[in-house]
Amino acid sequence: MSIDYEKLRERYTESRDKQLSSNHGLRLDVEAYCHAFGQEVYGIKMNGGSTLYLLRECIFDPNHKNGEAAIGQADDGKLFYQCFHDSCQGHTWKEAREVISGKDNLSRFMGSASGGEVSSMTGDLISIKPLVVIGVQEFIGLDLPPRSNILSPWLPEQGLAMIHAPRGVGKTHLALLVAYIVACGGKSFNGWHAPESKAVLFIDGEMPAAVLQERLSGIILGTGIEPQAPLNILTPDLQTNGMPDLGTKKGQVSMPKNFVPFLPE
Ligand SMILES: [Zn+2]
Repeated sequence: MSIDYEKLRERYTESRDKQLSSNHGLRLDVEAYCHAFGQEVYGIKMNGGSTLYLLRECIFDPNHKNGEAAIGQADDGKLFYQCFHDSCQGHTWKEAREVISGKDNLSRFMGSASGGEVSSMTGDLISIKPLVVIGVQEFIGLDLPPRSNILSPWLPEQGLAMIHAPRGVGKTHLALLVAYIVACGGKSFNGWHAPESKAVLFIDGEMPAAVLQERLSGIILGTGIEPQAPLNILTPDLQTNGMPDLGTKKGQVSMPKNFVPFLPE
């Protein structure tokens, strides 16, 4: 009797992967998988219950670029391949996987072993990457850039600041003005100085869009300066489905792709 080892190995790998993906909500960490096999993830998009990992280049046709093709992951962890072009219709995850990683076993990208994990609290996909721990001697020898101010003297880089005052005093107005001055850069106002222009995302929680628009228009006309860096507005009034919780991964991936903070470099 002779055993066909190749066939046996293939069937074993397949059934083990199947078992892994159906077990305990374990799922493939698509980002880690793509990274390991040199596939650049261009962005992440939520589509209904599925997560689409947009690819820099389609697996099957390099002319399909910049997110036209994606590896998709359904709510239950099931994977699929999707390309926007007609010529790529019908390609399956199995085919894509074969091109990307051949017959490699994927268990190292499954579940909490080394990859993504589904939080039982929120249902969000959490990426687990090893933490950097560094010895004190090496740490004090690191060449770190000095901390600078976004707005001198009170708003430092990576700082948290809270403006508080009774209602009606003009906190929102002031926050808008600060956002504007920082995006313009190189200007002082009331003794506060923005050394250089910085991109600003202004997140508003409750103002009617029309009021926000009027106030901003007033600031633009009043200061007579123009932003040198992007100044973007996120306001619930312009959202058709309300605002998600931006503290969750789901909320964060619903931001436009240039605002998704955790894309691999
Ligand atoms: Zn394609």
